[in-house]
Amino acid sequence: MTVVAGPDLPDTQGHFGVYGGRFVPETLMHPLLELEAEYFKAQQDAEFQQQLDYYLREFCGRPTPLYLAERLTRELGGARVYLKREDLLHTGAHKINNAMGQILLARRMGKRRIIAETGAGQHGVATATVAAMFGFECVIYMGAVDCERQALNVYRMKMLGAEVVPVRAGQQTLKEAVNEAMRDWVTNVRGTHYILGTVYGAHPYPVMVRNFQRIIGDEARRQVLELEKRLPDLLIACVGGGSNAIGLFYPFLDDASVKMLGVEAGGEGILPGKHAARFQGGSLGVLQGTRSYLLQDEHGQVQLTHSVSAGLDYAAVGPEHAWLRDRQRVEYGYATDDQAVAAFMRLAKTEGIIPALESAHALAAAIERVPCMHPDQVVIVNLSGRGDKDVAQVAARVALETHRSG
Ligand SMILES: *Cc1c(COP(=O)(O)O)cnc(C)c1O
Repeated sequence: MTVVAGPDLPDTQGHFGVYGGRFVPETLMHPLLELEAEYFKAQQDAEFQQQLDYYLREFCGRPTPLYLAERLTRELGGARVYLKREDLLHTGAHKINNAMGQILLARRMGKRRIIAETGAGQHGVATATVAAMFGFECVIYMGAVDCERQALNVYRMKMLGAEVVPVRAGQQTLKEAVNEAMRDWVTNVRGTHYILGTVYGAHPYPVMVRNFQRIIGDEARRQVLELEKRLPDLLIACVGGGSNAIGLFYPFLDDASVKMLGVEAGGEGILPGKHAARFQGGSLGVLQGTRSYLLQDEHGQVQLTHSVSAGLDYAAVGPEHAWLRDRQRVEYGYATDDQAVAAFMRLAKTEGIIPALESAHALAAAIERVPCMHPDQVVIVNLSGRGDKDVAQVAARVALETHRSG
């Protein structure tokens, strides 16, 4: 069997095997086809790529370091652990890579009104940031419940000049915010671009966002070859929609010796409604424009999900991940809330780096795997974001535990 996991995918209709595609109402077909045509033109355009490189470097802070975590490596006593420091980017996470790519595309298409949806607010902040930078109008849809939970990010977006619209339908969280953003897009499509934040939704979003995020893996590949004179043995990344993970993995897919582990949110354990690990108890379905793995009941109703980390708390996963899992090119595991919080504390104390709770899921998996590896081996963990946003939540949780055990 060839290991080639398809850097040539998706096909022209956006399919990764049986996954992906474009499941949208007729009214959205036109904007998606227009976006697809413009995106692939831009991708071939050297001037567009130069502009993107320029802003990623001068505004966002690329390249990010590939940092050897010396004390963590010593403590774990197995492979050498490197951290890809996406947490050092402007706005504190990898999401700005994609937001920057898409706003340059919007500018090229002559669209000066930007919309987006956000759950925890991280993608909303990245989008509001690039919109402010280019002087574009910006509207962010956010579930009313999420607005309350993430009040600080709502303030950030407003300071950056964005209008934040609380969505009061259904569960009043991310899923409803996506529906509202799609409705806006249909109505205002002529002058509006919809910046989707992960490798999800209808074609061309999954392929486009992957290509904007692959810079993580392209850099990491160069850096590890320079530092270690060889390829890594294992890559680890957390998987919400899957953009930071595919961004790291993609440039290594053809390197058969490089193993890959995607880590989903195990929440309070693998019981209905208690987690967001789509590959544990999920099944094939269609949600918000694409076919992939999702958490649904026997009637096809989308299940409730839970994770300590808002950025991983979504019922479906990007279609390319479902395909890579079927091909057994990438392994998918999960970390529970407790494991992620423990990893969060551990990295802070051993390395002086406070990671995002999302990234802490990847670290939890590293803490489990690395001690069983050989000291000559090399692991790269994608540190997708910084944890300032999570400090209050972790503090409250730890206080509660101390109270309980005291
Ligand atoms: C949003 C977010 C994630 C999850 O999104 P992916 O598309 O799966 O990468 C992970 N880490 C951080 C820091 C985030 O903000």
